[in-house]
Amino acid sequence: MSATRVLVLNSGSSSVKYQLLDMSDGSRLAAGLVERIGEESSRLKHSPLATGGENRESEGRIADHEAALKAVAEELSRDGLGLDSPELAAIGHRVVHGGRKFTRPTVVDDAVLAEIERLIPVAPLHNPANLTGIRTAQALRPDLPQVAVFDTAFHTTMPESAARYAIDVKTADEHRIRRYGFHGTSHAYVSRKAAELLGRAPEDVNVIVLHLGNGASASAVEGGRCVDTSMGLTPLEGLVMGTRSGDVDPAVIFHLMRVGEMSTDEIDTLLNKKSGLLGLCGDNDMREIRRRIDGGGADASPAQLAFDIYIHRLKKYIGAYYAVLGRVDAVVFTAGVGENAAPVREAAIAGLDALGLAVDGGLNAVRSDAPRLISPEGARVAVAVVPTDEELEIAHQTYALVQDGNAGAA
Ligand code: AMP
Repeated sequence: MSATRVLVLNSGSSSVKYQLLDMSDGSRLAAGLVERIGEESSRLKHSPLATGGENRESEGRIADHEAALKAVAEELSRDGLGLDSPELAAIGHRVVHGGRKFTRPTVVDDAVLAEIERLIPVAPLHNPANLTGIRTAQALRPDLPQVAVFDTAFHTTMPESAARYAIDVKTADEHRIRRYGFHGTSHAYVSRKAAELLGRAPEDVNVIVLHLGNGASASAVEGGRCVDTSMGLTPLEGLVMGTRSGDVDPAVIFHLMRVGEMSTDEIDTLLNKKSGLLGLCGDNDMREIRRRIDGGGADASPAQLAFDIYIHRLKKYIGAYYAVLGRVDAVVFTAGVGENAAPVREAAIAGLDALGLAVDGGLNAVRSDAPRLISPEGARVAVAVVPTDEELEIAHQTYALVQDGNAGAA
């Protein structure tokens, strides 16, 4: 029997999300999450999808990532899906920052680990946790290929004109300052699925992808290749997000330092954790914001302003990427907000008829897990909703790589 299972690990600083997939049919065998690693109240949630059993939840201190992965392995064993199984083909890891070097998924060896480590200064929150996840998985199954799938890889095709900031080249190069982009696995998956929905080859289709989750980013994809994206050196640039500001005049930072007497860390926290929708109206969840708007009264107006700022920024990026691409075949919404919030989709596309963009109210109101068109029949440019599936994409890329026996280009 050939090994067809892939374990996907998404290791954060205090959490590990996982899914076990069977790549013979893409089915999910198990999924879960370990949260609050290192705290007394760590929690493990496990869904034994293959057995159809009850979800399991346990609480109690899980000291570190190694203990977390061991706890996950135990849960999987209880379902007869242990990590010692010969059916496990590989472990695929989400790695946030791959810099310029990693343009595709890569089998991990010492040199790859060293390079991910070298990138820590540009991804101080993410890459250390990703590294810990890989090392822990290696210790558990040293014989198994560990594959790193980079959030930045899909964006490495951006031309220099889009990837460079207009700052002194020497300084930029010395500190590796350029636009890398993130959410690449999602943008790759969704743009390909959108082409499928249109019944065309990805190479023939130009797509604007709007990944609107708690983090949010837009990308311009020309014939399957990313030519621009809204996140930059870090995930802070671009759209208004749940708690991140997105674009601001960089001088806001000097002003806060000089006049507001804030420290670098305080400003970092302000822009990454206390801004965006949360900073504008006190809520970062679009469901709550819509509830407040629909409820009317005094509570509605800050929520309405936050919504309007969010939509204004989104429209600007749709327009900008329309211009970058020249010809657009589809605008595609994905992730938590994009897949679920019909009012966001309606407002973002409203008034763009001159660009051939419109939303059909009836189609937009339909709730579904399937990729679907929401533009009126015969529209010049398709508007679509395509649910993203980063874990499936990581599993696909991981499995394809180990099947090819091709170590990938670093
Ligand atoms: P993600 O980061 O892709 O998991 O998206 C999470 C975000 O999606 C949440 O913070 C909400 O703002 C948003 N979201 C999820 N479900 C809905 C919904 N039914 N309506 C509006 N927004 C939603």
